[in-house]
Amino acid sequence: GSRLAGVEMAPPDPILGVSEAFKASKDPNKLNLGVGAYRTEELQPLVLEVVKKAEQKMLAAGYNKEYLPIEGLDAFRQATVQLLLGSDSAAVKEGRVAVLQALSGTGSLRVGAAFIARFMKGTTVYISNPTWGNHRNIFGDEGVEWKYYRYFDPDTVGLDFKGMVEDLTAAPDGSIVLLHGCAHNPTGVDPTPQQWQEIADLCKAKGHMPFFDVAYQGFATGDLDKDAFAPRLFVDNGLEVMVAQSYSKNLGLYGERVGALNVVLSDADAAKSVLSQLKRLARAIWSNPPTHGARIAAEVVGDADMFELWKSEMAGMAGRIAKVRGELQAALESRCPDRDWSFITKQIGMFSFTGMTPQQVDNMTNKHAVFMTRDGRISLAGLSSSKVAYLADAIVDSVR
Ligand code: PLP
Repeated sequence: GSRLAGVEMAPPDPILGVSEAFKASKDPNKLNLGVGAYRTEELQPLVLEVVKKAEQKMLAAGYNKEYLPIEGLDAFRQATVQLLLGSDSAAVKEGRVAVLQALSGTGSLRVGAAFIARFMKGTTVYISNPTWGNHRNIFGDEGVEWKYYRYFDPDTVGLDFKGMVEDLTAAPDGSIVLLHGCAHNPTGVDPTPQQWQEIADLCKAKGHMPFFDVAYQGFATGDLDKDAFAPRLFVDNGLEVMVAQSYSKNLGLYGERVGALNVVLSDADAAKSVLSQLKRLARAIWSNPPTHGARIAAEVVGDADMFELWKSEMAGMAGRIAKVRGELQAALESRCPDRDWSFITKQIGMFSFTGMTPQQVDNMTNKHAVFMTRDGRISLAGLSSSKVAYLADAIVDSVR
């Protein structure tokens, strides 16, 4: 027998396992609302026009396939931190940001977790309840202790701000607080600007270090600057923050693995040392980051015309999702007027957190071939107008 015969099967991933089940289904009506990946009205994956343009330019320029520096492509690093903090950011001008190109949002979070494990030993990371399921794996696998803070109130289908503040106040001083920069996954519920300010004040008073996960910049409001409000506010308030960025959703570069870890510090020397240690960590994980997607992002951000085209395509994606939100809400209201369905258009980003129980989700999947995560989240990025009625019927059948 095998030396590894004792290795047990790992459970399927709660999100990507849904895609596997969807692929295996033979139901002609099947609908994949599991993973947060944008689809066209025809339910096909979308490569943005601006990405194709950038790739044509890159091909014409005849780039080679040499290794990038450990910290990544310079043009990309400059572009990504400006996109995050704004083109006139004092922190950037003063050289107070350590920027490491990393393998998309996940890799950025992971190298951040490795940094915490090595240099902030014993510090607990507080994550929202609920959150994107991979956060627990990422910190847990690096041996970083994590705990939940209250975030979602099922009764109001809104933010449990009081619970959140209580939990972050009760956390030991100097903890790390993981925050979703915008378009919280899975709830679609974000703090208001006033509440963000209160969270920043709380972090400052407690010496907490915020760790922003920015996976949906541009997908909350359709506007890149507006969606960077929270991390910029915290930096403007003088807080030192970590920020993981992803270009999976907003540039549609899912499989290219494009992202960055930014550590904003209060002095440039600290930023230099931190970057050197991030490079040391990355060297032993992936050595150098991938070139192709980083060049695409740098081309797009670095060229005024392409940047405008990107913004309009992003607004188009956000607009299509907003449109199906409205259609789904109306379809549910007409079928089931005794319930309040307004949460569907109140929530923002790619998802709707429906409040369906795991049993109701099983009915959605087993009876209606609607594939979704068992926490009741549906990805509206995977819904088309033509499928709204089918989905509404399935939801009404499942919640009744
Ligand atoms: N963070 C959140 C909240 C996400 O929803 C996702 C993707 O679904 C990610 C990070 C990371 O994705 P990626 O590794 O593709 O950038």
